[in-house]
Formats: sequence, structure tokens, C-alpha cells
Amino acid sequence: MIRRALIAGAGGLGCPASLALARAGVPELTIADPDRVDASNLHRQLWHRTSDVGRLKVESAADHLRQAFPGLRVQAMPVSVGADNALELFHAHDVVIDGTDRAGAKFLLSDASVLTGVPLVYGGVLRMSGQAMRIEPGGPCLRCVFERPPPPELVPACAEAGVLGPMAGVIGALQAVLALDGLPRPEWARLVVVDGESFSQRVLNVRPAKDCAACGPTSRGRLSLIEPAEAQCAS
Ligand SMILES: [Zn+2]
Repeated sequence: MIRRALIAGAGGLGCPASLALARAGVPELTIADPDRVDASNLHRQLWHRTSDVGRLKVESAADHLRQAFPGLRVQAMPVSVGADNALELFHAHDVVIDGTDRAGAKFLLSDASVLTGVPLVYGGVLRMSGQAMRIEPGGPCLRCVFERPPPPELVPACAEAGVLGPMAGVIGALQAVLALDGLPRPEWARLVVVDGESFSQRVLNVRPAKDCAACGPTSRGRLSLIEPAEAQCAS
């Protein structure tokens, strides 16, 4: 049973994931995000209202969560989960939800999961599609699947690409389910890909890559966290 979950990002993925985890009875949630609510966030970030525009997202999300679930313990941290605090934060929780909106941040979280052995549920959404995968010790990490973050010029800006609000809700809720459910065979991971245009869902079985730069045998003891610099859209 999960007692403490860390949600890295109080946006399109972190809001529905925190709602689903609270509904499932997880007693303690930590939400980390340094950003403030913008009017353009409201269509996909379900905790935030028009009256919350300008507030810290973690304060808005924590207030609404406490109101909906009086017995829930919520810690609001107005910070990014980065190279300086990720290991400590991972160790303090049973599972981590990736609700970030930058590819580089997702790889940092994956590396922190490899280093600490604390499971991470990766998620990403763009336009009308999204994907999610649970990463845990002994299984593949994000670098086993994607190797490295895409170059910034290949990633469209949020305003340019857009995100269908309900698709963020689908992927965030799916991340909560993956957080609650350990894998029957942790050496395999399942990358769930949801396409909102064709109403299809695929589940890809993923195995660890032997030459993975994070979790491969030649990388043991050499992995360290590097702060990503780029700003990219993935939620
Ligand atoms: Zn790996």
C-alpha cells in the first residue's frame, strides 16, 4: 500500500493524478511545482479556478484537495524537483508521479528513480495523444526507451502544439493507476500509448536496454543528476 506519493508538477497531469490517488485512499501527498496559475492552464489543470489565477499552483491544488478530502495530508512545495533535491524527495516517498512539462525534467526524474530505487510513473501528453509507463528497480528506465531527450528544435512550443484538456485527464488518471499497481514482472515495463484521435490504445512491453546510459551494467556507480536547461512542452 502506498502511504506517501510525490507529484512533481501541479499541472495537466499532476492535477488528475493527485485527485485519483486521493480518491484511492493514499493518505499523504506532496505536490512540488514552482509555477503560478495562468488563465491558459485552466482547460487542463482541474484544480485551478479563474479565481486562482496568479496563485502558486501548489497552493491552489493543496487547498482544493484538502477541501475535497479532509483527512488527506497534503504538503505543498513551491519548487521544481531538480538535481539538488530529487534524491532526498524520492527517498521520502513510496512512489513519484511525473507531472512535469519538460522532456529534460522527465529524464532527470527517471535517473533519480534509477539512483534511489523508488518507482516513478512517467507520463506525457501532446495534442490528442499521451503515454505513461511505470519505472521500477530491475526494470527499464526512460533512457532504455527513448535514450535521450529530443533536441529542443524538434519539440513544439506548448502554445503552438496545444494539449486536449481531457487527454491530460486520461493520462494523469492512468498514471495514478500505474502508481497503485506494482508490475507482475518488474523486469518488463509497459508503455501505454493512448491515441485520442483514433480512440485506440497500445501497450508496448519494454525490456531494459543493455547499453542504457542510466541503468545499464556499464553505468552503475557513474550516473549523476544533471539539471536540464531547456523548456519543452510535454503536458
Ligand atoms: Zn535504462
